[in-house]
Amino acid sequence: MKSNNNLEDINGLDPESWEEMRELGHQMIDDMISFLKNIHHEPSWKEIPEDTKAYFKEDLPEVPQNSKKVYQEFKRYILPYNKGNIHPRFFAWVQGSGTLMGAYSEMLAAVMNPNVTIGEHAAMYVDEQVVKWCKQMLNYPNSSSGILLSGGSMANITGLTVARNSHANSIREYGIQKNNKKLVVYCSEETHSCITKAAEIIGIGNKFVRKIKTNSEYEMDCDKLLEQLLLDIKEGLQPFCIVATTGTVNTGAIDPLEDIYNICKKYNLWLHIDGAYGALAKLDPNIAPKLKYIELADSVAFDLHKWLHVPYELGCLLVKDADNHRSTFAITPNYLLQTERGKRISWRFRCH
Ligand SMILES: *Cc1c(COP(=O)(O)O)cnc(C)c1O
Repeated sequence: MKSNNNLEDINGLDPESWEEMRELGHQMIDDMISFLKNIHHEPSWKEIPEDTKAYFKEDLPEVPQNSKKVYQEFKRYILPYNKGNIHPRFFAWVQGSGTLMGAYSEMLAAVMNPNVTIGEHAAMYVDEQVVKWCKQMLNYPNSSSGILLSGGSMANITGLTVARNSHANSIREYGIQKNNKKLVVYCSEETHSCITKAAEIIGIGNKFVRKIKTNSEYEMDCDKLLEQLLLDIKEGLQPFCIVATTGTVNTGAIDPLEDIYNICKKYNLWLHIDGAYGALAKLDPNIAPKLKYIELADSVAFDLHKWLHVPYELGCLLVKDADNHRSTFAITPNYLLQTERGKRISWRFRCH
C-alpha cells in the first residue's frame, strides 16, 4: 500500500468544493431567517399536494446526489408543509416552537458531532452542566443524578425503571419472577399514555396500573388513591410507585403533590413526577408554591422541548438517589475499564 503522508489526500468526507459548500450554507441561513421572519404571513398548515407526496415514494438513490439540488428539493417538497407548531397561531397540543438560536446551536453541535458517553472533551462538561441547570431550575438537590433523553416519554420510562429496581432489586440478575408479589403503580385517569406504556415495557403490566379517578378539577382524588392502595395491600399485591402529574395534557391540572407525597412516605412508595408539560412552571413565582413538592420527589421527568422551546428532541430525568439511578443501569464492559496508567478520562455522570 502506498504510504500517504499528505493529509490533503485522505480527506474522503470533505466536500468537493469548500467554497460551494460555504455558499450553500450561507444561502440556507438566509433562507431560514426569511422563512421564520415571514411565517406569520403564511397559513399555519398547508395540505400536502399529491405530486409532492409522490416525491417521498422515490426509491433509494444509488448515485451521489448534488447538495444544491437536494436543498432545492427540501425547499420545494418539505419546508412548505410543516406541522405548524412553529407558527404563532398554532394552538393544538403541547408542543414547542424552537428558536433560531436553538437551530444554530443544533448546527454547531452537529459539526462537532461528539459522542458524550466517554472521553475527556468539552461536550461532556456541557452535558453535565445542562443537567445541573435542570436541577437548579427545579430547585432539586445537587446531589441527585440526571440524564438528558429524547423526551418526556423516555424520561418517564427511565424513571419508572429506577423506581421498579429500587423495589425489586434482584431483577437485573434474575429478571421478572413469576411468584414474586405483583408490583402495582398508581396514577390518575388523566395521566399521559406513556406511563401505561412504560408499565407494559418494564414488566408491570397495564392491569397493575391503577388509574385513580380525578376530582372536578381533574386532579387525582387522594381519598380514592388511598382506598385503592389499601385494597391492593390487603390482596397481597406490592404497591411500589405513585406517578403524580404536574400539568396534565388535557387540562394542565396539577395533582395534589403534598398529599401524594405523604402517602408515599407512609407506605414506602416511590414518588415519580411526570412534569413533561408543567414542571418548569416552577420558574414562575406565582405557580412555584403549588410545585414545591417536586423538590421532594424520588424522580422527576420533564421536557425542554415544550415551554423552553429547545428544538426537538430533549427531555430530562432527575433521580434523587444517584446510587439508585446508577445501580439500575451501570455495566462496565472491558472496553470501558479504567486503566492504572495513562490519562484518567471522564465517564458520563460516573455512571458506568
Ligand atoms: C408531552 C407529555 C409527555 C410525553 O412527552 P414527549 O416529550 O412527547 O415524549 C408525557 N406527559 C405529559 C404530561 C406531557 O405533556
